[in-house]
Amino acid sequence: MIAMLFGPPGSGKGTQAKEVAARLAVPHVATGDIFRKHLKSNTELGQLARSYMDKGQLVPDSVTCDLVASRLVEDDAVSGVLLDGFPRSVPQAEWLLGWLSARGKAIGAVVNLLVPDAMLIERIAGRRSCLGCGATFHVTANPPAPDGTCTACGAEVVQRADDREEVVRARLETYARETAPVLGALAGHAPVHDVDGTGSIEDVQTRIFAALALG
Ligand code: AMP
Repeated sequence: MIAMLFGPPGSGKGTQAKEVAARLAVPHVATGDIFRKHLKSNTELGQLARSYMDKGQLVPDSVTCDLVASRLVEDDAVSGVLLDGFPRSVPQAEWLLGWLSARGKAIGAVVNLLVPDAMLIERIAGRRSCLGCGATFHVTANPPAPDGTCTACGAEVVQRADDREEVVRARLETYARETAPVLGALAGHAPVHDVDGTGSIEDVQTRIFAALALG
């Protein structure tokens, strides 16, 4: 199944993605994670992406769509994927719908995570990310190990550069202006399930599984 986690920064897409992808038995494809990998290995794409990410802006659609196209044709993605953070603009959504329909495919489900703005800012301000495996933590709700390392892989856990408050505000503005309209572009092309994204990680996961009839 081609499924999609949709919602603003801090709505919990990355936190929920691993379990949801495992339950759907499809790979988790997160464009933000792919850009961060390129950034870490200092590729040309990473350098280009950084100039947008540091300002809370979107990487250009053509670059992002090419990246997704090359990921979607990999062997493990042929029978489905869980998209996280893509599409993030109406042109990206239109490109995806066209790309899929040309291959006789369609989006099976969109999970739209709903979280109030004040909670998004609180969550992102407290978010910490592992430099090794990318696992995310929250200083109070889901802390890393007492020595500040990752409970999954032991690497250092830090605040992402684009999780600083001034960048977060820009990311939320970008979301409202460019990403929220994606839901309208998907209407009629994919079933959209609104899911309450507040509460514990387990509660939200239960709601997502119920929405996807995976309970
Ligand atoms: P994320 O980890 O999903 O919050 O993404 C981090 C940053 O990567 C975003 O703020 C954008 O600068 C960039 N990015 C991730 N996904 C996309 C996308 N689909 N289109 C454009 N830029 C993206």
